[in-house]
Amino acid sequence: VPVLHEIRSLVTGRHPEGPGRLECIPDAAVAWEGETLRWVGPAGDLPTEWRDAPRWSAGGGVVIPGLVDCHTHLAFGGWRADEFEARILGKSYLEIAAAGGGILSTVAKTRAATTAALLARCRHHLAAMARLGVTTIEAKSGYGLSLEHELRLLELYQAIAADTRQHIVPTLLAAHLVPPEFREDREGYVRLVIDRIIPEAARRGLARFCDVFVEERAFGLPEARRILEAGRSAGLQPKLHADQLSAGGGAELAADVGACSADHLECISETGIHRMRAAGVVAVSLPFASLYLGVVPLPARRLLDAGVPVAVATDFNPGSAPSYHLPMAMTLACTLQRMTPAEVLHGATTVAARAVGLEDRIGTLEAGKSADFAVLDAESVEHWLYHLRDNACTLTVARGEAIWRATP
Ligand SMILES: [Zn+2]
Repeated sequence: VPVLHEIRSLVTGRHPEGPGRLECIPDAAVAWEGETLRWVGPAGDLPTEWRDAPRWSAGGGVVIPGLVDCHTHLAFGGWRADEFEARILGKSYLEIAAAGGGILSTVAKTRAATTAALLARCRHHLAAMARLGVTTIEAKSGYGLSLEHELRLLELYQAIAADTRQHIVPTLLAAHLVPPEFREDREGYVRLVIDRIIPEAARRGLARFCDVFVEERAFGLPEARRILEAGRSAGLQPKLHADQLSAGGGAELAADVGACSADHLECISETGIHRMRAAGVVAVSLPFASLYLGVVPLPARRLLDAGVPVAVATDFNPGSAPSYHLPMAMTLACTLQRMTPAEVLHGATTVAARAVGLEDRIGTLEAGKSADFAVLDAESVEHWLYHLRDNACTLTVARGEAIWRATP
């Protein structure tokens, strides 16, 4: 039953006064037992039962809830550094895809990779995320695009979830793109997703969410609606990649199908914003994707001012967002999306927890929740997000255990 003390300030992640205000406890202490937080409050008020507990020091740092990366494409083979220059020289994402690059080249590399190699890469990335304070990771399939290969990626996430302290949230993204085998038979692939892949993933408990890439070269609105409804009736909650490169009515569809989140939204319409607010859909902003593709980011201020909760995630993938550095994405959300540090902190904790449907267990520091937190060598959350460094995180605890500790 350890107690963390010497905390300059603890950010609970709760925001009773709205996401623009941080709830902070100066000179705080945290007590936990096993995986669960038991007590959080001012150090001077620590109940007597914890006074003789083993003490961990936060070294005078700031404590925040463990970060939640609510949108990643964690498992993939190879990289796509070869496309980086082509994009810099002006080729669009869609042009590169049309020339056989893009997502389908990663599909080929992922299918060709051994399961052991994919597992080793995922574990390596997760360890790097732990060093940055990330304790929950949503992980999508989507580079398999066949029954066998989509299930293999989800099985891989299941294997990882069993041997890491980080929370892994698996999402089926079989509707990422139509694979080459079905180029002349889109409907055949949609049927495969609906009739075989979704039921099998759901029956085996391999996914929590069903996601669709709604975009001109991926899936249209009627296809996406059928896939998401099939997912929902099999017990997989809907999520969408929506309105990234054009205003395609994706946000409106997210509201219609009761999606947990709609992600990207660079081109969201005014109607989409109001429909999402009314339906309680979380907007997931992905600043790396906007940055790497050189597009205007989602209108975070308009979403927030309209009352839509905005999460911040990396979209870690080998094409449009080749980084798992969530704190850097958070700084970009401040500068590119004009979100305040408080809104961004909530966006990568409480709001992101909602985006993965785990708000009852993670996202805030309160008794009864999972003991997930990060200690930052910084004066405040504002100072942390403003002064971009290699890493300010000195200790990460996930489900009660230290998964990263900086050597002093
Ligand atoms: Zn994505």
